[in-house]
Amino acid sequence: MLDVRGVRKSFGALEVLRGVDLSVRAGEVTVVLGPSGSGKSTLLRTINHLEKVDQGWISVDGELVGYRRRGDRLHELKEKDVLRQRTRIGFVFQNFNLFPHLTVLENLIEAPVSALRRPRKDAVAAAERLLGRVGLADKADAYPRQLSGGQQQRVAIARALALEPKVLLFDEPTSALDPELVGEVLDVIKDLARTGTTMVVVTHEIGFAREAADRVVFMDDGVVVEQGPPSEVLDHPRHPRTRAFLSKVL
Ligand code: ATP
Ligand code: MG
Repeated sequence: MLDVRGVRKSFGALEVLRGVDLSVRAGEVTVVLGPSGSGKSTLLRTINHLEKVDQGWISVDGELVGYRRRGDRLHELKEKDVLRQRTRIGFVFQNFNLFPHLTVLENLIEAPVSALRRPRKDAVAAAERLLGRVGLADKADAYPRQLSGGQQQRVAIARALALEPKVLLFDEPTSALDPELVGEVLDVIKDLARTGTTMVVVTHEIGFAREAADRVVFMDDGVVVEQGPPSEVLDHPRHPRTRAFLSKVL
């Protein structure tokens, strides 16, 4: 479903991704762990083509991200094709990034109507269903500022789902939340996991990784150091750097 192969990315002289390989099967939940600055956010941003890779390639559901293959040459996609592609690669940010001047319902239907040209009536029906799914059916007409952080993040998840993404990327979805609000957001993500949504979740929530992940990937210094089922990587890490990291966060 999602393949990352040999991806390298530098910012100036700083090489942030130094040859990353990652495969995520349809319906799988992959949790990415790693110290600050190891390249986790940059990896997610390259998957969504918010950052261009310097080397290597990424494909989602058989489609190259950001490029089209013609013969043995790669051609960059036009901006409108990048945007079309991006609608199917959902992204949930640490800081929710809702449109503050739109109601919850309007936040959910904006992209389906404007980018996917869905009839408004259908988009509203889908949005109402999704709000029910994240437990916010009664908040359709509220504005983001009237919601708690946990509720805003659940709206952000529903908004991403409204585009029926092939894969959903989360960048530390709970790290901006007060501790008592973390659980409600993780519960929504766990529910998605149970229903077979393909997800890559960058988080420091080890308990969540243990419970919801099919695969845990440990990144350090721009490479995948170790990966496997949670029972292996979290309980029997092989690499000293994984052990050192886990001993700090557990
Ligand atoms: P954290 O856990 O703190 O979120 P991270 O693993 O997500 O860290 P990244 O945000 O991917 O790490 O950043 C990796 C490195 O790349 C950092 O040193 C960061 O300062 C640098 N970096 C990221 N984006 C840019 C950018 N647009 N320009 C220059 N440097 C950047
Ligand atoms: Mg980050």
